[in-house]
Amino acid sequence: MPQGDPPLSLRDLDAISVHRLRDVGRKRAGALTEMEINSVLDLLQHYPRRYIDRTKQACIADLAHGEEVFVEGTVERSSSRPTRQRRKLVEAVISDDTGRLKLTFFNQPWQEENLRAGRQVVVFGSPTLYRGSLQMTNPVVDLVGDRTGRFFAVYPQSEKANVNTWQIARFVEQALNRCRPRGILDPVPPSVLARFSFVGRHTALNTIHRPSTMRESSEARRRLAFDELLRVQLELVRRKRQLERNTAGLAHAVGGELVDRFLARLPFPLTGAQQRVIAEIVDDLAMAHPMHRLMQGDVGAGKTVVALCALLTAVQGGFQGALMAPTEVLAEQHHQTMLSLLGDLTVPDDSRLGGERPLRVELLSGSRGAAQRRRASEGLAAGDVDIAVGTHALISEGLQYRRLGVVVIDEQHRFGVEQRAVLRDRGPGSVTPDLLVMTATPIPRTAAMTVYGDLDVSVLDELPAGRLPAATSWARGPLEEAQVWAEVRAAVAEGRQAYVVCPVIDESDVLDVRSVTETHALLAGDGGELAGLRVGLLHGRVSLAEKEATMGLFRSGALDVLVSTTVIEVGVDVPNATVMVVMDAGRFGIAQLHQLRGRVGRGLHGSSCFLVGEATTPEAEARLNAVVGSNDGFDLAEADLELRGEGTIMGERQKGRNDLRLASLRRDKEWVVAAREVAIEMLDADPDLRSHPALADEIELMLGDREAEFLLKS
Ligand code: ADP
Ligand code: MG
Repeated sequence: MPQGDPPLSLRDLDAISVHRLRDVGRKRAGALTEMEINSVLDLLQHYPRRYIDRTKQACIADLAHGEEVFVEGTVERSSSRPTRQRRKLVEAVISDDTGRLKLTFFNQPWQEENLRAGRQVVVFGSPTLYRGSLQMTNPVVDLVGDRTGRFFAVYPQSEKANVNTWQIARFVEQALNRCRPRGILDPVPPSVLARFSFVGRHTALNTIHRPSTMRESSEARRRLAFDELLRVQLELVRRKRQLERNTAGLAHAVGGELVDRFLARLPFPLTGAQQRVIAEIVDDLAMAHPMHRLMQGDVGAGKTVVALCALLTAVQGGFQGALMAPTEVLAEQHHQTMLSLLGDLTVPDDSRLGGERPLRVELLSGSRGAAQRRRASEGLAAGDVDIAVGTHALISEGLQYRRLGVVVIDEQHRFGVEQRAVLRDRGPGSVTPDLLVMTATPIPRTAAMTVYGDLDVSVLDELPAGRLPAATSWARGPLEEAQVWAEVRAAVAEGRQAYVVCPVIDESDVLDVRSVTETHALLAGDGGELAGLRVGLLHGRVSLAEKEATMGLFRSGALDVLVSTTVIEVGVDVPNATVMVVMDAGRFGIAQLHQLRGRVGRGLHGSSCFLVGEATTPEAEARLNAVVGSNDGFDLAEADLELRGEGTIMGERQKGRNDLRLASLRRDKEWVVAAREVAIEMLDADPDLRSHPALADEIELMLGDREAEFLLKS
């Protein structure tokens, strides 16, 4: 390469095919392709899974029963034979200067080929005593190759592709050597590097693969993880601002008396959090660019009242509001709640005698008759329906809004991307309505910055006064379970009601129906624990009409107990229900359990939640303990993140080629915050990153349009 060429950018590295590395034969290149390693960039970003520190290795003679260790040795021989269960058993012997160790592998047929005689390997496992000598069963095996030095990297490898970790290490080394003359470009401003004492990118990419100390590798990781987070935040913040600049919204007239009249009618004072969030929303509504806000609030925090304030702000200025719920049951319930909270509110109407008319709220539900639906949709088109409540029917083709001003989407995680976008497009002319998304599934703040980085976030973090959290306990074993049913009977005797929820065991509804139907029969049948009580049954297979009828009966108190699948999970509000029993609770996730528990204790009576069943895995045990131990949705969200990792939070978005390879929303919280801050500073000073073309270019490369779509949609 000629001297004086500029340092290599990520785009340059992406343009160099791995085929151009010496030693990568056609066969290997094919294997690399299978691992989605096509360019030198891919290779350099194929980060080590971990490092092996040779000074921490044990010699075979020192091994002790049951102690986890690394051992390095040479393979002497390996062989395989079928077991009695007709599986393959691979046996191998390795040795070092001090002795020999036998390895056995069940069900890992590839190990025979992997452990060819003469190969240098590192094995990790705990030796056990078997017939007088130590051996390891199913240890983790890494091929060392001819690597020397104290540390070396272990790469994610692919059995199928048949490229092993030391081959990858060799390719990486070659790639790094080829980059050395020009060096690797560092597009992050030196002031930012200095502020966090980051090593340069060239150094970081070298030392993450070939550290000479563990500290070097962690410094490298810190730097490269920051780069990933910075790119994501720059993209999110830039897009958000672009949207704000380029879309015309409505500057709603705020401070009108309709909202005041509504608040004055409420039978309770607002919580401090409700007041704060309403103020945040009203500020957004007053501005000319469209609101794009997420309201996170624990179950029972009172999101509906806040949503109504947003909708009524639209209405008092002559616009319409729409509230979209994920299920028919919930839409129905929102409709009921709104009717009772709104009462006989009136809106100004110059065409009427007296200058006003009743506020008109319509439910657009698949379950309503065609005539009612037509009336509602005509009213929307004419502009004399003020607020529409419904499911995705609200965005069906052909539904016209005269002046849609504010859209509220409840329980947003159930909605697809397109729905959000379509609703946004329903504004008058080319104007985008204001959007409020509400979710009762809190996610930790730093995760929200990434997952919802394009939304402003409001947090409703206070329960109404006097609300007692449901006392939660875990009933394990038949005796404790019997106690649960006694509690249910006692609550019913006092005039209260109870839910019994059964898990979704299989995606196929048939099984769920059976489990919930059987539970119902068992409990309510002759001699059952709840025999003699009025016990209803609800699951995904009953018709909509029947579902509504059953919910209606429960709401009105004509049923004592409702046995159901999780159809009642979100948002169902029956204040007289005070006991929640969750069957087979170990099968539920933390967020789900917390949601379910939120269904009780919504009225004035103390409430309880019983988690029934054994935990079948350590994770299930941890989940149940977390739910018993805390009533705070945000704490639980943190616990959930700890237990499950961020994959689940990123959800759909991870299907894209995610740029977060090293960074973890869980471990790197402080860096998420730092990256967000830096991104905001940089974009404040330079909205299009004109003075940082290299950074802008690599964002485009790494996140691309498709990537960004994933990040921005939910
Ligand atoms: P969620 O946030 O779970 O959607 P809701 O909006 O359904 O909560 O409110 C739960 C219950 O609390 C409803 O019955 C509602 O009327 C009541 N509520 C809302 N705000 C308050 C408040 N400030 N004080 C007392 N009760 C309230
Ligand atoms: Mg709700």
